[in-house]
Amino acid sequence: MSEELDAAKVSAARLWAVARHPYLASALFASTVIAVPELGGATVDEAWRLYLDPEVVDQWTVAELGSLMVHHTGHLLRDHAGRARNLGLGPGQAEDWALAADAEINDDLAHPDLRLPGEVVLPRSLGCETGRLAEEYFHATSSFTPPDNADHPHPDCGSGADGRPRPWELAGDIGGGLPPGERELVQCHTASRVIDFARQGRGRVAAGWQRWAEEVLEPSVDWRRVLAGEIRKGLTAVAGRVDYSYRRPSRRAGASPSVILPALEQPVPEVAVLCDTSGSMVEEQLAQVLAEVEGLLRSVGVGRGQLRVLAGDATVHTARRVSRASQVDLVGGGGTDMGAGIEAAARLRPRPAVLVVLTDGMTPWPAEAPKGMQVVIGLVDDGPRARGGQVWATPAWARVVHVDDAA
Ligand SMILES: [Zn+2]
Repeated sequence: MSEELDAAKVSAARLWAVARHPYLASALFASTVIAVPELGGATVDEAWRLYLDPEVVDQWTVAELGSLMVHHTGHLLRDHAGRARNLGLGPGQAEDWALAADAEINDDLAHPDLRLPGEVVLPRSLGCETGRLAEEYFHATSSFTPPDNADHPHPDCGSGADGRPRPWELAGDIGGGLPPGERELVQCHTASRVIDFARQGRGRVAAGWQRWAEEVLEPSVDWRRVLAGEIRKGLTAVAGRVDYSYRRPSRRAGASPSVILPALEQPVPEVAVLCDTSGSMVEEQLAQVLAEVEGLLRSVGVGRGQLRVLAGDATVHTARRVSRASQVDLVGGGGTDMGAGIEAAARLRPRPAVLVVLTDGMTPWPAEAPKGMQVVIGLVDDGPRARGGQVWATPAWARVVHVDDAA
């Protein structure tokens, strides 16, 4: 039984892979190789270590081993481990995720040279269209019954594919494991190489690799998630201020009638939304964004009765409690000065804990932050910037979220 890895074959396989996927070169060379006798195949861990069974390597051709290296590099670059954790896989779901992740990679490896040993999982094996993400394939696998192949179980790709540690995997940076920062560097470097290759037309770059690279270099962050996060942070900052007051009797007082216990009085945080209705904002677009913000507020626990919407420009026309975004009359159309609107919001009683300002940014801002109120600015549409309108720098005391589409 062979316990030593055929180093020459491992090197040849790596070069085979680099020759066919030159943009993956630094990623392919980032992995250290560790021999694990009786492993029965090849796996990767999250720190980019590649574990190989020497005996199995002897049986594989250079092309098969090289194809597997490309495949495993795909798991690492696409962060299948982190994405599996984000999904919060339940018991027995790791196998479904492994199939889905393999389908996402192999889809882009359908190169005539690809020689993966064993059966190759493709999106169509899961009854799915090509070019989608593993998350989509994963949800599809719930209705998919894998063929009964107990003799040929789906090969294990290691913790690099699903985030669950394996007994043979090393810890920390032992054996050349990459720390998280370096993994990210390799990802970014590889992504820019993919884009360069695609631009220069130097050979074929699979569409999936291009989409991946664009997402790594310019992530399309969902503003709804960011805005919800900022509102939540604002509410948390305020929720920390809790009053202990003797005004209301504690329910525990019944059990100890001779002692007056303080009641914990926690005010329900209020949120106000200030809409810039000056001529520069398209009313329809503003209404759409406002409706979404209303939904967001509900998702962070702000109920209908706690939302007030102010609509205005240089002078605030309306400030009233509304139960629906559609009840807001978007009047205005004059010059913009959000300072007036912020002042009006600060005068509301009870004072809002968080003020969300929806504006196109063509407004001056007050120099000082309003007292006792967190401000989150939702910058809607960069159109005015492109059209040459005057855009003022947003104040440092506010959190700014770019609302780039209302769709
Ligand atoms: Zn795999």
